Amino acid sequence: MTMNTPPEQLNVQALASMGGEISGHLDRASSGAALDTCFERLAAESCVPNGLSRVAWHAQAEVRHLPDGSPSVWLHLDVSADVPLVCQRCMTPVMTTLSSERWFRFVSDESTAEAEDEHSDEDVLVLVPKFNLAALVEDELLMALPFVPMHDVCPVPVVTSVKDQAFSDLPDERQHPFADLKAKMNQAGGR
Ligand SMILES: [Zn+2]
Repeated sequence: MTMNTPPEQLNVQALASMGGEISGHLDRASSGAALDTCFERLAAESCVPNGLSRVAWHAQAEVRHLPDGSPSVWLHLDVSADVPLVCQRCMTPVMTTLSSERWFRFVSDESTAEAEDEHSDEDVLVLVPKFNLAALVEDELLMALPFVPMHDVCPVPVVTSVKDQAFSDLPDERQHPFADLKAKMNQAGGR
């Protein structure tokens, strides 16, 4: 099944029992503002207005049986998005692709989820009749944000504050950017 926005009230149990999968894709060109309203927290990470340009998601649910025969619901979620962030080298926007994929296992209650999450490879969530998949998609994308966004190759010259010995040994001919401002003002204003 394909839908643009992830459902906020998904019956994971029903999806798993039919081994179903759902997926969707929103982009700025065709979905416009729906991107920002559907993924408000992620849109806020963009360093330019209306910068979030694409979100794609794919969820696949299945029922697995434990050795004792009892069924458990599993969900595999694959998400990706493109959002401009500030490059930490040149401080200009860098379009950054976020991606994440993870298995989730559903259990019946919160205390079981807390107890089992610590020693499980998969994330453990509580099975509820109306599961908010949209929030999970956005959580996964937010967790995929890089700590230090950076261009592979910066599009502008990078001003570095780290002094290179070879440069440090040269006489410092740099001037304060406003050093000659007064002279120019005097010329212009005749004062
Ligand atoms: Zn850069």
